[in-house]
Amino acid sequence: MAIRGWVYIIENDAMPGILKVGFSTKDPAFRAKDLAGTGSPHPFRVVYDALVFEPESVEGIAHTKLRSKREGKEWFRCSRIEAIEVIRASAGTVILEWLYTTDPASIKNGAALTPERAQCGYYGCKKLATSPVKGGAYCDEHSKTMRAQLEAARKKKFDEVRLARDR
Ligand SMILES: [Zn+2]
Repeated sequence: MAIRGWVYIIENDAMPGILKVGFSTKDPAFRAKDLAGTGSPHPFRVVYDALVFEPESVEGIAHTKLRSKREGKEWFRCSRIEAIEVIRASAGTVILEWLYTTDPASIKNGAALTPERAQCGYYGCKKLATSPVKGGAYCDEHSKTMRAQLEAARKKKFDEVRLARDR
């Protein structure tokens, strides 16, 4: 039986440039809460999580891949994107994954962190979604494709309206 659980990335504003890669069979939000109990003046925030098979071994593989960047125990000095790519490569299969908005305004307002699709919404693309386009989230390349398609559709509509008017 393959156990499913989460491999997550947690950050803390008090520790810029480093992040924690860990695993949990419960919602990683509980881990962030547990860490907060250690008395840090800044909240620990889950910024990414992935539902995977055998999360403990996926975490182990990820830690090995990141070992040259280890700051201590489960904390690593690397970019969020780099950690996400390592988690994905370590998991092989990602059942579900989310990126969480880290917009300071929404955090300050106490709003729950909003999960966003971490995977590009373009059919068949497995890259990381980096920019939103009209209701979806896409990688750098496909956000350009989607914007161009929207623009073409908008122009076509415009031309049709103009043709109808001029008839
Ligand atoms: Zn894409």
